[in-house]
Amino acid sequence: MATDDERVEKQGESLDRAKALRKRAKALKIEARQIEEAIDNKGLRCPKCGCGHFETDKTVPVSGRRIRRYKVCRYCGRRVRTTERIEA
Ligand SMILES: [Zn+2]
Repeated sequence: MATDDERVEKQGESLDRAKALRKRAKALKIEARQIEEAIDNKGLRCPKCGCGHFETDKTVPVSGRRIRRYKVCRYCGRRVRTTERIEA
């Protein structure tokens, strides 16, 4: 049987762990988004110059789980619009 002191100590410990995990999850989410962006940019080709390097100008939510991204070609400045589904 744990004493109250031990229990309090354990709670504090798990709170710290939860905080650390949350921080890690946030960092991973950012990383995942960057990877996703790199993946989708890979499949996209500029209709004008044919290159595949885009910068995302802005992201606009459409409806439900869809977002619209406005991208700009890094070479010729051509703007393209993509609609993507957000995975749950
Ligand atoms: Zn281009």
